[in-house]
Amino acid sequence: MMDKKTVSFMRSLCLGEIEEEILVPFPEPKLAEKETLQAIVGTLKSMLGPREKEFAAWDRAGEMPAPFLQELREAGLFGLVVPEHHGGLGLGATAYSRVIQELGRYDGSIAVTVGAHSSIGMRGLLLFGTEEQKARFLPKLATGETIAAFCLTEPGAGSDAAGIKTTAVRDGDDWILNGEKLWITNGGIADFFTVFAKTSLEGRGHITAFIVTRDMKGVSTGPHEDKMGIRASSTTTVVMEDVRVPAANVLGELGMGFKVAMKILNSGRTGLGGGAVGGMKRLIEASVGQARDRVQFGRPIATFGSIKQKIGQMVVDCYAAESVVNLVAGLADRGFEDTAVEAAISKVASTEALWRTADEALQIAGGAGYMRELPYERVLRDCRINRIFEGTNEILRLFIALAAMHDVVEELKDLAASVRGVLADPVKGFGVLSDYARRRASLATGLIRREKGRWTLLGPAVAGEAALFEDGARQLALATDRLLRLHGKKIVDAQLPTRRLADVMIDLFTLAAVLARVSTRVEDHGEAATAMEREILRTFARQAKRRIDASLAGLDENEDTGVQALADHVLEAGRYGWDNL
Ligand SMILES: Cc1cc2nc3c(=O)[nH]c(=O)nc-3n(C[C@H](O)[C@H](O)[C@H](O)COP(=O)(O)OP(=O)(O)OC[C@H]3O[C@@H](n4cnc5c(N)ncnc54)[C@H](O)[C@@H]3O)c2cc1C
Repeated sequence: MMDKKTVSFMRSLCLGEIEEEILVPFPEPKLAEKETLQAIVGTLKSMLGPREKEFAAWDRAGEMPAPFLQELREAGLFGLVVPEHHGGLGLGATAYSRVIQELGRYDGSIAVTVGAHSSIGMRGLLLFGTEEQKARFLPKLATGETIAAFCLTEPGAGSDAAGIKTTAVRDGDDWILNGEKLWITNGGIADFFTVFAKTSLEGRGHITAFIVTRDMKGVSTGPHEDKMGIRASSTTTVVMEDVRVPAANVLGELGMGFKVAMKILNSGRTGLGGGAVGGMKRLIEASVGQARDRVQFGRPIATFGSIKQKIGQMVVDCYAAESVVNLVAGLADRGFEDTAVEAAISKVASTEALWRTADEALQIAGGAGYMRELPYERVLRDCRINRIFEGTNEILRLFIALAAMHDVVEELKDLAASVRGVLADPVKGFGVLSDYARRRASLATGLIRREKGRWTLLGPAVAGEAALFEDGARQLALATDRLLRLHGKKIVDAQLPTRRLADVMIDLFTLAAVLARVSTRVEDHGEAATAMEREILRTFARQAKRRIDASLAGLDENEDTGVQALADHVLEAGRYGWDNL
């Protein structure tokens, strides 16, 4: 029997299988963690709640004062994910994400500073460090005496991280590093850098991760970048000139640095997602206050349908984002190994939900929302980065679809082999083929459901939405199969169909998270107490279905050729060519 911990919900879903035990019951923080969390949340509320004016001033100045960083250290915020025996709080993914959520509620720059330290800066050490390395660095990272940064991006290598040029050349027992890293969060305040460098000068790849510290000769950081948002967080270049790094500072295996980087980013995504959820909760509260207080046409604007629609949608978006982020964090805490697709979905879904919410909150505030006096414009600027860093949402969409389709590729390969097999060995070959044909027929007609094509663990209160999901899942499996047959290996270049499929997957996984959460809540608290949550589920499920139907219909009927031709035309001309003057 397959070990459940190695199963990915989304990879299975592409084959039409709903691995429901992974999601139901919906994960909840453990009681002991809840108590720790309540204490931290209480501390943060009194520490950060009254300081809105200071955050606004630091945003304008583009700097976080050193005494405030010291306060963050003293509050233990740099030790959240460091194991207790190394001096940290040892929080799991769910609890960590919840703390970043609380920081995100007050200020994006603070959430990013603490998040970059824990989610990516020292994550490589936690995941791949030797016991000696951990003992050497973690105690100071836990107190924040040492702050960590993650150094992958370079001037010529952003999304194409495998194209980095920083080199590491062996010299006796040491490595000599040369190169420049760009836009490194915490660059100006960090002393511990997880640096990715090429350990072979031949071609692309052959990357290794190194621990570089500020006290090493040849390490320098550039000036603070003047940014659009998260302005108080430190972003600088990190330059290495003939930096001698001992072999004892190699992180993970030689030549495996790209995998190390991807694993770090995957594992850190629930921090970013948590921050996004916190931002949304704060915006909902601000919008509610704004809508109640602002009177136009003799009534509070909260009484107008258009304003209510925006606020209601914010609630649906926030609950959905929270569900998907908590679900992925819960999977990490329960030891699921293959959650890269699900984690990428949680990043895309939560960061885009926050962006929509910030935009609508500013709109509810009207002209006042545009003024610096109120926090809306700052939150909008701050949250824009989420769709760019730790993998742009475009790249993540490609990753989501292509990685999730992997198992279908394998099955299709088996099918191809079995077709050959039919000729070579009709009895054996026919067996495999007929099984596959049966699966396809059941998916296509929906009459003969596959054993795993239905939910059985969800309660009757969510049956309607569960059926919508099942239908979407069947359509996804068929579309995946069809696209792979159509494009074959060239699927990697078919970005527009791939993006549509990714959109379907994002909606389906988010719906699965909301379904599992609401069903579990109904089970635990009864229907009356969960009426509003069931309303959220109903709304999200219907909206998701409409988006899914549109994306799937767009696979066959779309304007892609025309739009691409227009892009080609303008790319060739270099400008818009229809000015009427
Ligand atoms: C404030 C800030 C903080 C940051 N912090 C860090 C940090 O701590 N550590 C670190 O290493 N990096 C950091 N970065 C860098 C960040 O991760 C990169 O900006 C990001 O990965 C995108 O790379 P890029 O900016 O070079 O964009 P590019 O890769 O040049 O992409 C430009 C556009 O093209 C799209 N694109 C690129 N390739 C493809 C493709 N194959 N198909 C379709 N579309 C494509 C992208 O989605 C994007 O829209 C930070 C950046 C900023 C702005």
